[in-house]
Amino acid sequence: MSSRGIYPNFRQVSEDEFAKRCHTKLKGPPTGKMLLPAIYLIAEDTTPPPGTTCSCGMKLTRRNVIKHGTCRTNLVDYDPDENRPIRCSLLQQRWRCRNCNKTHITTPLFKHPRHEATKRAVRTVERLLRNNELSYQEISRRTGLDTKIVSDIDRESVQNEIDLENED
Ligand SMILES: [Zn+2]
Repeated sequence: MSSRGIYPNFRQVSEDEFAKRCHTKLKGPPTGKMLLPAIYLIAEDTTPPPGTTCSCGMKLTRRNVIKHGTCRTNLVDYDPDENRPIRCSLLQQRWRCRNCNKTHITTPLFKHPRHEATKRAVRTVERLLRNNELSYQEISRRTGLDTKIVSDIDRESVQNEIDLENED
């Protein structure tokens, strides 16, 4: 299976079509500034209702939710086979709780909890950061992640190391 197989239902598009479709601008270097051009994907989320419990106490299973429009999640990913950035715009189903009307969206498993990027893209940045010779800009050029996110990831991994040392 190709590394793009993590997306349930995807279509590769041109950079122009991607920009047209995904409305909000994805942060990060433009294609010409990247080491290798990014792959652009438009994906449709086909995951079922979250299955978690709503703040009102209702379990969010299929019978307890109603479809409530869609929203887009834009993510930067990294293709480990081709060593190229992937820019993905995921169209997600929004669900509404039948009991209290609160809306919910399932966070894709492959999304990093704090960044507009996939877990494997963040892992790639962490790996490149350990090679101390690369600047934030250079890492951004290779991975397609915004330099601000690269510096955030760096700060977080330094903080993790301090936390680990304090635990000893
Ligand atoms: Zn509810």
